[in-house]
Amino acid sequence: MRTSSLEYPSIHGQGMTSQRTRDKLVLRLREKGITDERVLEAIGKVPRHLFVDEALASRAYEDTALPIGLGQTISQPYIVALMTAQLLRNGIPEKVLEVGTGSGYQAAVLSHLVPQVFSVERIDKLLRQARRCFHRAGLRNIYTRHADGRLGWPSQAPFPAIILTAAGTQLEELLLEQLADGGSLIAPLGTAGAQRLVEYTRSGDVFERKDLCDVSFVPLLSGLD
Ligand code: SAH
Repeated sequence: MRTSSLEYPSIHGQGMTSQRTRDKLVLRLREKGITDERVLEAIGKVPRHLFVDEALASRAYEDTALPIGLGQTISQPYIVALMTAQLLRNGIPEKVLEVGTGSGYQAAVLSHLVPQVFSVERIDKLLRQARRCFHRAGLRNIYTRHADGRLGWPSQAPFPAIILTAAGTQLEELLLEQLADGGSLIAPLGTAGAQRLVEYTRSGDVFERKDLCDVSFVPLLSGLD
């Protein structure tokens, strides 16, 4: 059997982290209603087990969120797929801004689809881990920053696509300002137990809001750790 450099079948044994296991996850996402082939292909390429603690590697291809330490989680693949598909609905953006790098999994999926991924994380330790994962997975088009993502990434703005993976109680003005005309911002909004995934699409100075579904994300916090 040929293995790619992204796989480590001998380490975890029993093929728990193999391409076949990833393909099963893709199948599950299809069954749950994800139809965007580009997104499904990207999910099939990303070795999610690299983005979780080794002790959890055998659960990496379950369609669930998992803890990544420091009170944070790696997002559920279904939600990653849903948000990514929504972001690409009107074509592939030139670049995307992600607020909340966390494990780096969402950024890794995006990196297979979008030329440049800019991702901001407020917890330095998580960001260092994520950077190591990008390196191990051979992903070179992800640019990261240790900063409060509520402020965006002004020197790279405007962004045709912005994605938040932590939930604020209100929309961040600065992020809306950094959204390109015609661009779309997707974010969980609300408090624990009452969050909605929303999308804002910009036309000039008008922002049209669309409600997508219920979600459960960790909170968007201010300042750095
Ligand atoms: N996209 C991640 C999800 C991680 S959970 C993944 O695929 O794994 C959300 C992350 O948002 C956490 O790591 C949290 O530390 C981070 N976060 C919360 N508030 C933030 C802020 N203001 N700026 C940047 N990151 C933030």
